[in-house]
Amino acid sequence: MTTATSQRRLSQIAPLMIQSEIRAMSVECERVGGINMAQGVCDTDMPGIVADTAIQAIRDGRNTYTRQDGIAPLRQAIAKKMASYNGLQVDPDTEIIVSTGATGALYAAGLALLNPGDEVILFEPYYGYHSNTLLSMRAVPVIVTLTAPDWKLDVDALRAAITPKTRAIIVNSPSNPSGKVYSLEEMQAIADVALEFDLFVFSDEIYEYFLFDNRRHVTMATLPGMAERTITISGLSKTFSITGWRVGYLTASSQWIPTIGYFNDLVYVCSPGPLQYGVVSGLVDLPENFYASLSTEYQQKRDQICAALTDAGMTPSIPQGAYYVLADVSRVPGKTASEKARKLLAATGVAAVAGTAFFAKGGGENLLRFCFGKKPDALDQACEALRRY
Ligand code: PMP
Repeated sequence: MTTATSQRRLSQIAPLMIQSEIRAMSVECERVGGINMAQGVCDTDMPGIVADTAIQAIRDGRNTYTRQDGIAPLRQAIAKKMASYNGLQVDPDTEIIVSTGATGALYAAGLALLNPGDEVILFEPYYGYHSNTLLSMRAVPVIVTLTAPDWKLDVDALRAAITPKTRAIIVNSPSNPSGKVYSLEEMQAIADVALEFDLFVFSDEIYEYFLFDNRRHVTMATLPGMAERTITISGLSKTFSITGWRVGYLTASSQWIPTIGYFNDLVYVCSPGPLQYGVVSGLVDLPENFYASLSTEYQQKRDQICAALTDAGMTPSIPQGAYYVLADVSRVPGKTASEKARKLLAATGVAAVAGTAFFAKGGGENLLRFCFGKKPDALDQACEALRRY
C-alpha cells in the first residue's frame, strides 16, 4: 500500500462522505440473513406493464443515449401528472428534466444553483443524502430541528437560522425518516420565509403518493409566488417500486432549466433510455386507483409495524406518510443508536438504522428507523420477531 503525499491526497470533503450507516446495516443484515428494514429499497412488486414496456424497448433497440432531459413522451406524461395530481402547470419542453432518480435531480440542481459556502436550511431529522449532497458541493447545511413526536415546524427557529449567506431551504414532504407530512400552514410558512428572504426551495416530493389518514399532498411550487423559486423533485423509484432503475425528474422555471440540464448532462448524460419508456407506460396506462391503493396498502403496513413496535416497548412516532417509522429504543441495550441497531439485529434478525444517521451531532441516539416498504411475509416475520423481543 502506498501512502498519501502532500500532492496526492484525498479531497477535503472526503472524510465527510463516510459510508452511510444504512448501507453498513444492510451489509450486516445480509451477513446474518436477517430482514432488512434498514434500507429504503421498497422490495414490493412493480407494476407488470412498466416492466414489459421496458423489456420491449430493449428488444426494439431503444438502447442509445436519450436527450439529457429525457424522452419527449416521458416529459409529456410527467407534465400531465403534474397538472392533474400536483396542480402545477409545467411546459414539457422547457420546465422538466428527467434525471437519474430524485438523487440526480438534486445533485444537478445544486451544482447549477449553489456556490461553495452558501447556506441551505435543512429540517432535522433529515435525509442523509440531502445533507451529503450539499457537503459534496461545498455548500453548508444549516440545521433547523423539528421535535418529536409530531415534528412540528418552529417558524421562529426557521427565521432565526437565516443569515445573509442563506440561499435555499430543502423541504421533504412526506418526509424520510420521520414520516411527517407538512400541513398547508407549515408549507405556507416556509414559502413566506423563502419569499421574504428571496430563497430557492428544493422540494423533495418523492413520497407524494404515500399519505395516511386521508392527508393530501401539497406541492410547494403551487403556493403563490413559489413556482419561480421552487425546484420540485420527484421520481418513480418509490411509486413504481423501481429504486434500481434510476428514473426521476425535476420541474422548475425555464430560467433555471438550461443550466441544471447542463450539469445533468455532464454528470449523468441521461437516465437509462429503455427504462424511461417503461415509466411512460406506467404513467400513461395505470389506472387512477393504482395511486390511491398505495396509500391504503402502506397505511396498513404502517399500522402493523407501529402496533408491533408498541407491543415491543419501542414507542413509534406515528408516520403521516412515506414508509419509515422512527421508534424510541431506549429499552434496547447499547450506549449508542448504532450499538442498539446491532444488538436488535442480533436478537431479532431485524435490521433498522441508527437514528443518528438523520441528525446532526448528538441527536437520534435513542431512535431507530424502520422501513416498512416490505412484502407482507417479510413484514409479518419482522413484526413477530419484534414482539417476541
Ligand atoms: N429523496 C428521499 C427523501 C428519499 O428517501 C430517497 C430514497 N431513499 C430519495 C430521494 C432517492 O430517490 P431516487 O431513487 O429517485 O434517487
